[in-house]
Amino acid sequence: MTLEQRIAQVNRLVSQACERAGRSPEEINIVAVTKYVSTEKTAQVFDSGILHIGENRWQNAKSKWEALGDRGVWHFIGQLQSNKVKDVIGKFAYIHSLDRLSLAKELERQASAADITVKVFVQVNISGEDSKSGMPPEEVFDFVRQMRDYPHIEIVGLMTMAPLESDAEAARPVFRGLRELRDELNAGNVLPYPITHLSMGMSGDFEVAIEEGATWLRLGSILVGKEED
Ligand SMILES: *Cc1c(COP(=O)(O)O)cnc(C)c1O
Repeated sequence: MTLEQRIAQVNRLVSQACERAGRSPEEINIVAVTKYVSTEKTAQVFDSGILHIGENRWQNAKSKWEALGDRGVWHFIGQLQSNKVKDVIGKFAYIHSLDRLSLAKELERQASAADITVKVFVQVNISGEDSKSGMPPEEVFDFVRQMRDYPHIEIVGLMTMAPLESDAEAARPVFRGLRELRDELNAGNVLPYPITHLSMGMSGDFEVAIEEGATWLRLGSILVGKEED
């Protein structure tokens, strides 16, 4: 399939899922995950009109950034080590993987020094699997409350990863749990501003994620493909 065909297919599936859920496709934002493909293919992604791209490791993203950093909006979606914050700050407008206080401290420090605000998602381990990163749900309230004292960090939403099951339905309770957690944070006015977004849904489960309230999908293989495709 060409990239154009992939985009058309994804748009069709997004529309259908929105229809089932009684939502507007305008509520759905897509990060095209380019971690599997070359700089050349990443350039084609931008050429196709896609604005948001996602990378999960700075080591792999660096050469792409050097070639294409002036295009589009970059999202950091992978686990972030504190000593890599200096590399990604100011380059990635969104960080989807804020999962601990030590990382928040370093993001605040670097964002403050650069005089910018960094938009972040708090990554939550809803499924409880040991293999998944993200903070336990029961720690999220306290953590988010502390972010009031981090003026260079803007919490735009919550992020989670579902278990990698062949059955997308298995992801539904995880996605629903993230939505409920966001709603509880907002009902409790934990921050002076509402937490709007839910970053959830990958190639295998994004339709379920839409039904459960996703506002940012992170799509790699189904949208961008892998290099060998
Ligand atoms: C790789 C990756 C994705 C995209 O995965 P696909 O299943 O190929 O869509 C989404 N989110 C994160 C955090 C990833 O690492």
